Amino acid sequence: MLELSALDKKKQIILVKAEDKETLSRTFVRFQEHYESPCKQIRGKIFTLGMLKRAYSNQNGAWTYVSNDVIDGDWSGFNFPSPTLDPFKDGLFDPLTQEEQALVEAFRHRSGPYYVIGVYGDGALTIDHEIAHALYSVNPKYRKEVDAILDGLALGQVFKILKKMGYCKEVFHDETHAYCGVDGMYFEEKWVKENKEAKKIVREIGPKLRELFERHKP
Ligand SMILES: [Zn+2]
Repeated sequence: MLELSALDKKKQIILVKAEDKETLSRTFVRFQEHYESPCKQIRGKIFTLGMLKRAYSNQNGAWTYVSNDVIDGDWSGFNFPSPTLDPFKDGLFDPLTQEEQALVEAFRHRSGPYYVIGVYGDGALTIDHEIAHALYSVNPKYRKEVDAILDGLALGQVFKILKKMGYCKEVFHDETHAYCGVDGMYFEEKWVKENKEAKKIVREIGPKLRELFERHKP
């Protein structure tokens, strides 16, 4: 079962909670990749799950996106802005899976803009990261303050790391703010490692972004 709830007063940040990682990743995979796949034949395009599996497998070595009983999937949290749902509502992705259909119907009559985030279990690991993306999208004041912190910095080394992690350049700014501001320790230990230039940036902007996030968090 999926549990849906609005997190903020304006009901613009909608949390979708699944009981496990497999259900979550199966539900979000095509929405997420339509929004921000690094593969140009997928991002913004209409595609079957088979086409996505081929593109992702070729790019990453195997189909490890969606968790199952045996394989731990690559992604633990998901997020996309409301216009992502339009081609799904219009029937361009039919046939939809049962999970996709449920999500599309839940938002069919909703007007935008709003932002959908997905976590599983208690969500403790990823929820703040996904809320940061949502705030960056629906809260112009927050976005402006984030951009003011990032503007003028040489972020090339951080972007290089994000590319390696599987992100497309369209979300580099957004991901830089989410990883540095909310997941700074994890980002540094797991991904930044010995990259001195990137480490310096993470330590410089991390606390400022964290403070900003705490101030705006619903
Ligand atoms: Zn992210």
